Amino acid sequence: MEVKINGCVLRLVKDDITKRKVDAIVNAANNQLLPGGGVCGAIHRAAGDGLAKECREIGYCETGEAVITNGYNLPAKYVIHTVGPVYSGSEKDAKLLSNCYENSLKLAVKNNLNSIAFPSISTGIFGYPVEEAAKVALSTIVDFLEKHGKPSLVEMVLFSDRDFQAYKEALEEILSSN
Ligand code: ADP
Repeated sequence: MEVKINGCVLRLVKDDITKRKVDAIVNAANNQLLPGGGVCGAIHRAAGDGLAKECREIGYCETGEAVITNGYNLPAKYVIHTVGPVYSGSEKDAKLLSNCYENSLKLAVKNNLNSIAFPSISTGIFGYPVEEAAKVALSTIVDFLEKHGKPSLVEMVLFSDRDFQAYKEALEEILSSN
């Protein structure tokens, strides 16, 4: 599924994010920027040891913030690491999750990157319900594109049919209420 927003493409795809040939893929990282499991483990395996080394040098990333590294053996040129909230059910969750998307997009624009691919941040090990996370993720991306008109391509890369369906329904709802 693909829509145009302010001249930019927002695309939902079902795929493995490590395969995406974009300027930057986003990693759902932990505060220590350690390889770990889930999408983070998959990105580190595909990128090779250089990625963990560069992450060690950076050392730490606050929840909701983002840092950029090289992409090493990935088809993507860069990896933007952002740390999603561990779902707690409190009001702070949505703001922190929104910050992840916004700060990653800002970092992409600051580095003149034209294309970026996001995984579904926080909805795996961090326990954020996917239907709720999808609304936060997509409304943040749509608002950013409406305001800035870049990057020219934003992908949400979903790993399961269920996640894809949740994001598709959330996007349809956001577009119909705009
Ligand atoms: P978090 O700790 O932020 O919850 P996870 O890695 O546990 O991060 O999960 C985030 C999402 O990434 C989940 O929906 C998971 O299914 C998905 N995921 C796992 N591996 C990949 C991959 N290779 N490509 C894209 N998404 C993936």
